[in-house]
Amino acid sequence: RSQVKPSMIRASTVSWDDIGGLKDLKKKLQQAVEWPIKHAAAFARLGISPVRGVLLHGPPGCSKTTLAKAAAHASQASFFSLSGAELYSKYVGEGDALLRRTFQRARLSAPSIIFFDEADVIAPKRTGPDGDGTTTVGESLLSTLLTEMDGLELATGIIVLAATNRPKAIDAALLRPGRFDMLLYVPPPDVQGRHEILRIKTRKMKLGEDVDLWKIAERTELFTGADLEGLCREAGMLALREDLTAPSIDKAHFEAAVRSLKPSLTKAEVD
Ligand code: ATP
Repeated sequence: RSQVKPSMIRASTVSWDDIGGLKDLKKKLQQAVEWPIKHAAAFARLGISPVRGVLLHGPPGCSKTTLAKAAAHASQASFFSLSGAELYSKYVGEGDALLRRTFQRARLSAPSIIFFDEADVIAPKRTGPDGDGTTTVGESLLSTLLTEMDGLELATGIIVLAATNRPKAIDAALLRPGRFDMLLYVPPPDVQGRHEILRIKTRKMKLGEDVDLWKIAERTELFTGADLEGLCREAGMLALREDLTAPSIDKAHFEAAVRSLKPSLTKAEVD
């Protein structure tokens, strides 16, 4: 079998300004992730031990992954990304080896940020022995992850970020102090957030003078950041489909796009 390499994106190019809304959350992440890496000496001088792990939770498409990338970019840290599904799909032992290799490479290229997407798949709640005495892929991954995270105490400049849509499905052992001791909820965007996201996503688009992004923000309740990105693209495509020589994307295109797309969120997720 070929050796699976951890995927590393050294130069993540997403910056905090590429993320709309979430002002307080960005500040918390800056202090928890960017500061210990950038101002390691100050932390050492005052004897502050930085957070080891931050768990981002919230509905899909609301920028958890993008926040992790922005934190890496702002800290000029190497960025390693692993998804729960990717680790889980491997044979017993193979995912563990990949996990260990990732931590090892992160140590070698510190400062580093390791990001786990779909963390509930890597560390599902343990339900006790299932009777036949065998170790499941999930249990094995979880114990490897716990060992690696505990080992970080001796390493500096490595912070682990994880994302999940289902925080309740995560094993409590991961949430103990020294592991993921910071839990941050990444909420769906409110009207202000949607307005900022729309501004960001249309930065490079040629908009007609009749386009009012605030009005679009008001009319897109329950849209995630990912939905809004899709909406802007769809408005642009509508303009092109109508006329390949169109000089701009206009209000009518946005209105038609809003009508044709369904938001991903439900009322229950937002309240
Ligand atoms: P999932 O749980 O599905 O992995 P996620 O919460 O990690 O989703 P991202 O992958 O970060 O979400 O975001 C999906 C897309 O939506 C990205 O292309 C991102 O740029 C865009 N997006 C989401 N929220 C925002 C936001 N607040 N500002 C700017 N872009 C956003």
